[in-house]
Amino acid sequence: MFKADFDLIIVGGGMVGASLACALKNSDLKIAIIETFPASSTQQPSYDDRGIALSYGSQRIFESIGLWSQLTCHSTVITDIHVSDRGHFGVSRLSAQTENVPALGQVITARSMGIVLNKALEKQKNIEFICPAKVVDLQQYPDHVAVTLDNQREISAQLIVAADGVNSTIKHLLGLGSLEHNYNQTAITANITPERAHNGRAFERFTDSGPIALLPMSDNRCSLVWTVQTGDETAILSLSEQDFLSRLQDRFGYRLGKLLKVGQRNAYPLKLMQADQAIQHRIVLIGNAAHSLHPIAGQGFNLGLRDVAALADVLIDHNGDCGDARLLHDYKDWRLQDQDNVINNTNTLVTLFSNDNPVLGHLRGVGLTLVDALPVAKHWLAQKSMGLDKKQPRLARGVKL
Ligand SMILES: Cc1cc2nc3c(=O)[nH]c(=O)nc-3n(C[C@H](O)[C@H](O)[C@H](O)COP(=O)(O)OP(=O)(O)OC[C@H]3O[C@@H](n4cnc5c(N)ncnc54)[C@H](O)[C@@H]3O)c2cc1C
Repeated sequence: MFKADFDLIIVGGGMVGASLACALKNSDLKIAIIETFPASSTQQPSYDDRGIALSYGSQRIFESIGLWSQLTCHSTVITDIHVSDRGHFGVSRLSAQTENVPALGQVITARSMGIVLNKALEKQKNIEFICPAKVVDLQQYPDHVAVTLDNQREISAQLIVAADGVNSTIKHLLGLGSLEHNYNQTAITANITPERAHNGRAFERFTDSGPIALLPMSDNRCSLVWTVQTGDETAILSLSEQDFLSRLQDRFGYRLGKLLKVGQRNAYPLKLMQADQAIQHRIVLIGNAAHSLHPIAGQGFNLGLRDVAALADVLIDHNGDCGDARLLHDYKDWRLQDQDNVINNTNTLVTLFSNDNPVLGHLRGVGLTLVDALPVAKHWLAQKSMGLDKKQPRLARGVKL
């Protein structure tokens, strides 16, 4: 039998790929990670200044991986979530106290997460971090797979994990199709300092032009994700600080008092993408390479981290060949329902709430009021947003691999 260079090659050392390597760092698997940009590079697309809301389920996974104590130094607790609809009645409030959990989630910048994940991978004897290097070609053989890098190096493994983001090179080289929906929306992100203390509250406010999320961060800052119609972002990004804040204030309202300061602004075009197939011969797609979501519900990375936990779970029990077809099918069958549910729920939210139809507006108000009034509905929603409602892999149950 061909002796491959590695058991596993992870293509993409962004948040999802690096998390998988961290989850497997104490295993007997020989792993390579290939990443185009060093974590410190300003071009690194995964580790920028956007605030990532980690669900309580993701916190548990990082606790089992042994990284939570490092991540928590950089994170801010979400104790309450307040959901409202601009210009319509009805609000919904979720609270950690009511759910009997220490937090509904935590907010951390992608940059801080990159620092923690990359540090954890330093000096791991079983992991080779190949960076900067880009995968440019792929070959599949019956008993192994191989990739060619842009420096002409060729390396082989039993399994390739594509964690190379929404424009995945591996997906492209395999000729895989995908379901895609362009929302014609762009997310503007920035850190905002409001007049009043956020006290751990996260706000999601739906408006006729798209949702606005403000997530609690350190020093009473809030991480903003402001969704606008594509085309409007250029004018909004070029507004003066004062004009930007007053435009945002008009859309968000005064729940946090006057909005006082805004940091650097960035824009991300938004689309839904789900790869037609998550597995192929000796290849598996995870994270944004498999599914990319609208950030409306802050679920993209949380979903990708559940891919990581489930894949690590099946890999740790491998029978000597971690590219074995049965293992990949087990992984795919386990993950499909969660992925489909999150994609459908997120898509429904975007469609339902990015709409100025008065009938839908009324229904949204009724829905939000009902959720607020019914403890069972609230509990269901909170469990979903914490990522606790599925069959849980070992890492999510607090079991170390
Ligand atoms: C505005 C915004 C807000 C968000 N907020 C949240 C939130 O609150 N909560 C949440 O859970 N999610 C959130 N998300 C989603 C989250 O950012 C993504 O789900 C996450 O970044 C996906 O990580 P990934 O590692 O799969 O992909 P990426 O972050 O895209 O990383 C892919 C990596 O692969 C590398 N790469 C690409 N091609 C190659 C190649 N050929 N060779 C080698 N390396 C390669 C890239 O350099 C990159 O490092 C948000 C997204 C946006 C846009």
